[in-house]
Amino acid sequence: RVADSADIPYAFADPETDQALRRRLNLETDLHRAVGEGEFFLDYQPQFQLSDGRMTGVEALLRWNHPERGVVSPAEFIPLLEDTGLIIEVGRWILDTAAAQAKAWNAAGLPRLRMAVNLSPLQVRGGGLLQEVMQTLARTRLPEEQLELEITESLLIEDLAGTRRILETLQGMGIRLALDDFGSGFSALSYLHAFPFHTLKVDRTFIHAIGQSDRSEGLLRSIIEMGQNLRMEVVAEGIETEGQAAYLRAHGCELGQGFGLARPGPPEAVPPLLTN
Ligand code: C2E
Ligand code: MG
Ligand code: MG
Ligand code: MG
Repeated sequence: RVADSADIPYAFADPETDQALRRRLNLETDLHRAVGEGEFFLDYQPQFQLSDGRMTGVEALLRWNHPERGVVSPAEFIPLLEDTGLIIEVGRWILDTAAAQAKAWNAAGLPRLRMAVNLSPLQVRGGGLLQEVMQTLARTRLPEEQLELEITESLLIEDLAGTRRILETLQGMGIRLALDDFGSGFSALSYLHAFPFHTLKVDRTFIHAIGQSDRSEGLLRSIIEMGQNLRMEVVAEGIETEGQAAYLRAHGCELGQGFGLARPGPPEAVPPLLTN
């Protein structure tokens, strides 16, 4: 895009790299503005009990409504929020907004839904997380057991001792902890041994392999069983078809989330899903 090129007065040899870098640099500039202008919002994706279809909670998912580009994928802008350090400020807003939403649903008489919030490793390592969580709970008066914090394995690889202390404190406060995207990275079983997770979220690559790969199906069944043996709740991510849901149900996976069950959407879309 011509407008983009004007912002950066040099070019990289490889046109593809050049374009990607330009887009990145422009988005980075735009992100600083986005924070001030309130261009972020949260979508909520329901999680269901697979046995009876009851909704048990939602996951809050960050969205950025860019004035020219439209809604930008979090896969693209969350790494930029992390690189710029803005994730700390935005993360605080996410936590507060999600908790306030859950509390509002309580107040409206909905059954108590669990609110799952994704944490960036930077938020956990930044030092201010415990205080932020306490402030959010105090401000919103959300019962702590309704809050679930999702972290990914990369965090555990990076700083074992420091992370462990923080996660144990959160657990002691009565907050639930979920291990996100399990099986997508270099999963080590020692993490499950060492950390107090309540929930195991099985990465969607395993769910997409149902009916495709015997080996992956075998792994999936083993992960579900392991979660059960550890008294963890297992959530299957990325359920898109009835066949996948049926397979997971048949193999004892308790909870599920995916486009086939419900897409992420605005808060108004959640209450109607509770009645049917
Ligand atoms: P995640 O935490 O694993 O979130 C689930 C992602 O899977 C979401 O993508 C969701 O829209 C997508 N998804 C749900 N069902 C299906 C399905 O059936 N099929 C497929 N193909 N995808 C499905 P989304 O919203 O694009 O978010 C991507 C990632 O960005 C998240 O993965 C999470 O790692 C990160 N993220 C999103 N919101 C936040 C946030 O508030 N804070 C932080 N730190 N990270 C976030
Ligand atoms: Mg997540
Ligand atoms: Mg996930
Ligand atoms: Mg993820």
